[in-house]
Amino acid sequence: MSDYPDYERTSICSFLCEKDCSNVCCNGATLITIDEIKDFYEIFPIYIGFRKYSPLSKEHRAFLKNIGGEIDDYYIVGDFIAGNRFKKSCIALDEDHLCKLHKEGRKPLQCRIVPFCAIYPEDMQDIIFGQQRQTKFAKCEGYKEKAEVDTTVWKQGSFSEDSLRDAFFDFQRGLNKQSQFMKEILLSIYKENYFKDFMEGEGVLEMPIPVPILFNVLEDAGFSDKESLHFIISQAKICKKELIEDGNVENTVIEDWFNELNELISAYNEFVNKKSE
Ligand code: SF4
Ligand code: SF4
Repeated sequence: MSDYPDYERTSICSFLCEKDCSNVCCNGATLITIDEIKDFYEIFPIYIGFRKYSPLSKEHRAFLKNIGGEIDDYYIVGDFIAGNRFKKSCIALDEDHLCKLHKEGRKPLQCRIVPFCAIYPEDMQDIIFGQQRQTKFAKCEGYKEKAEVDTTVWKQGSFSEDSLRDAFFDFQRGLNKQSQFMKEILLSIYKENYFKDFMEGEGVLEMPIPVPILFNVLEDAGFSDKESLHFIISQAKICKKELIEDGNVENTVIEDWFNELNELISAYNEFVNKKSE
């Protein structure tokens, strides 16, 4: 008997984004990979989120083992969160309810693959598609009937739309690339009480990018030293806007991130001042 649960399967997933219900999917934050940090650090506050997953198959277990840390009966996988998930709508959503980044042809990978999810294998995406329809995407108007042939996006185990397939595998490549940092962070926090609370509960464990690994993350994300400094200054400005100028949406992770960034900026200024004395 298989160790893995049986799910209702389908051979075709049909979907066409209607764009007029973005209040369902364009809430405060999206997910990005390490390869997208450079594209979006001047738009969103960027921090880390861990989620726990149970494998759906042997192949999925191998994938999760590669990208995440194995703790108890779960695999813990880290992403970069872009935005403020306590806000009702994404910073990149325009007044006409369309995504500014989409209009500019540079929408984040995660936003291009909804309602699928790159944490799961391509041949099991029908399961995710169906589950999202029951939960987070219950009000999404993009789900179509199988008979609407022009809207088929996944068929018999594979994506049938090139742009969707490309975004899906680019996201998986990003997960692989950032996994070394995520595993390093996990090793440093897994004994903390807040981590135990996360393991016992549901949901996401959010935290700022830890300063000891920040410059290595930025280097792997393609930043030069000068660009890394610009990242820190830009992120501090964006966090300040989120916390102070835009007002009343509390987010303690963004607050912690803002404080870390300010300490880094002060340390840098002190260093420069000493050098010029
Ligand atoms: S909820 Fe679904 S149909 Fe509506 S904008 Fe989002 S993805 Fe498109
Ligand atoms: S980046 Fe665009 S598509 Fe993604 S959540 Fe924000 S507004 Fe929506």
